[in-house]
Amino acid sequence: MLEVHDMVVNYGRIQALHGISLRVEHGELVTLLGANGAGKSTTMRALSGLLPLTRGRIVFDGQDITHMKAHERVKAGIVQSPEGRGVFPGMTVQENLDMGHYSRKFENKAAYKETLDRVFELFPRLLERRTQVGGTLSGGEQQMVAIGRSLMARPRLLLLDEPSMGLAPMIIQQIFRIIAEINAAGTTILLVEQNAQQALTRTDRAYILETGDVTKEGTGKELLADPSIKAAYLGVG
Ligand code: ATP
Repeated sequence: MLEVHDMVVNYGRIQALHGISLRVEHGELVTLLGANGAGKSTTMRALSGLLPLTRGRIVFDGQDITHMKAHERVKAGIVQSPEGRGVFPGMTVQENLDMGHYSRKFENKAAYKETLDRVFELFPRLLERRTQVGGTLSGGEQQMVAIGRSLMARPRLLLLDEPSMGLAPMIIQQIFRIIAEINAAGTTILLVEQNAQQALTRTDRAYILETGDVTKEGTGKELLADPSIKAAYLGVG
């Protein structure tokens, strides 16, 4: 579904990605694991069309989208839930969710309703908090709004940037369970994470990103058992 070939991204004279390649097959949950500053967010922003590539190619469903604009990628089905959540603090939960649906105009009201129902089914908490403003939600609830808002755009490929960031362990588990559920229901997901244990347990395949290079790839199981991954990302070994 998604193929990234030799992607280089620069910030001015600083090269953040040195030519990374990866792929995500239809229906997969794939994780990009890396420490702070490895280039995870840069990768996500380049995939959503917010940063230009200096070199390389991005192919989505067989089509070269390297130069496609960000809003056209959303229309094509690539939707990013950004790091830091980006919930609109003065808007209610419902209004925040509706912002996701504006980015992709629905053909009809039924499709909107069906998608909203699905979001509330995944996140019953958001239904309870429907009229509460974003700024007063807990961190976990804000993350739910961010993911829910992305789902409102009906993604075919969902890009999730560090959904566990800053959350308590119990909430992290809950968020990862829901991510797995979204994937099981048919949405392909590329997940960026620092939380190796949770991410590798749930993912089909993963890539390890270190200072702008992909240094390893494997199934979640393989990487969980890998001694160097254990030492670097799981705090054991
Ligand atoms: P984190 O988990 O800390 O968010 P990350 O893996 O997402 O890290 P990126 O944010 O992609 O890492 O950053 C990759 C590299 O690019 C870092 O060295 C960072 O300092 C640099 N970088 C990121 N944004 C910019 C920018 N706007 N200008 C210059 N350099 C940048």
